[in-house]
Amino acid sequence: MTMDFTDRVSRVEPSATLAISALSKELTAEGKDVIDLSVGEPDFPTPENIVEAAKDAMDAGHTGYASAKGVPALKEAVAEKLAEDGLEYGPENVIVTPGAKQALYEVVQSLIQEGDEVVLLDPAWVSYEAMVKLAGGSLSRVDLSPYDFQLEPALDDLADAVSDETELLIVNSPSNPTGAVYTDAALEGVRDLAVEHDVTVISDEIYKEITYGVEPTSLGTLEGMADRTVTVNGFSKAYSMTGWRLGYFAGPEDLVAEAGKLHSHSVSSAVNFVQHAGVEALANTDAAVAEMVEAFEGRRDLVVDLLAEEGVEVAVPDGAFYMMLPVADDDQAWCEGALEDAHVATVPGSAFGTPGYARISYAASEERLREGVERLADAGYF
Ligand code: PMP
Ligand code: GLU
Repeated sequence: MTMDFTDRVSRVEPSATLAISALSKELTAEGKDVIDLSVGEPDFPTPENIVEAAKDAMDAGHTGYASAKGVPALKEAVAEKLAEDGLEYGPENVIVTPGAKQALYEVVQSLIQEGDEVVLLDPAWVSYEAMVKLAGGSLSRVDLSPYDFQLEPALDDLADAVSDETELLIVNSPSNPTGAVYTDAALEGVRDLAVEHDVTVISDEIYKEITYGVEPTSLGTLEGMADRTVTVNGFSKAYSMTGWRLGYFAGPEDLVAEAGKLHSHSVSSAVNFVQHAGVEALANTDAAVAEMVEAFEGRRDLVVDLLAEEGVEVAVPDGAFYMMLPVADDDQAWCEGALEDAHVATVPGSAFGTPGYARISYAASEERLREGVERLADAGYF
């Protein structure tokens, strides 16, 4: 028998980042020494206090279903964390999800239907496009690559893309895949357009805690943005908790009610004891986060220098742990070749809507980063 699949699933591709990382794991299993600079995953263990809190929570019996939208202690801790960022949300504005990806999925499903227009800033993280397509939305994309991936110089282009037809704009600062942190003037430009055209904005702040010498502003703090911003964040990156699957979004109560229906009929809740560990992460992990961020900054500087020695100039990122390398026009072939010939895994820019680049994640040891650049140079990729 042949099954009939839905249009909505047929129109998306598998996650390119996860696919390349799976390929690199396969090659490693075959005995190849692959330097995996593809997936965005911190290489540090989850801080010990968080692991202990999860164990304690299991011992204390937090192993049943949690209340759907999140355990009260975590929703309160999230609201307090957001208040520190200047955002006025209460626990009633928060849904805790298994990862920020699920938060984004629920929000997009709740806001976008067949034919609705969503504006993305390219290069944009791979799953935004898929989520919009799954919801039946159409995409309008603004290319930031001519502006060193900064948004402020692209505001006129953004103004051309946003109209009364636009339902949603997704902003991700610090950005995956560029590491760019948008200036306050850029965010004010977004605000002006959102207000003028009555657009909802998702502010994906999953890399907010990982910045180097700049302090990113939360979009929802700008005047006029509180009731039209959905703030998304998660624990994967700042706390090195990718496998724990814990994230959240905060937004107006009517969105929480609508998305809450989808949440309760799909995931039920995020894992109970993991949520208790999340409370500990927010309360007591500042020093460990600062240490990881310092290490990422050192690695960023190292990679920028090593690439410069090879004659490769990159837009120096101010946050996250990614950078975009300018490569051949056929970035797909470049990345495939780099993996086959040099055993270095990277993600083609075209997966993010921007051909001609490859994304590297520098969440790897200095030794591996050094060797990765060396191998690419030796194999003639620069
Ligand atoms: N947003 C961005 C920009 C990301 O890079 C990621 C990485 N996976 C996510 C959301 C989702 O993260 P997670 O589901 O692990 O919380
Ligand atoms: N966000 C990370 C990345 O872009 C993890 C992979 C994914 O969720 O797609 O590499």
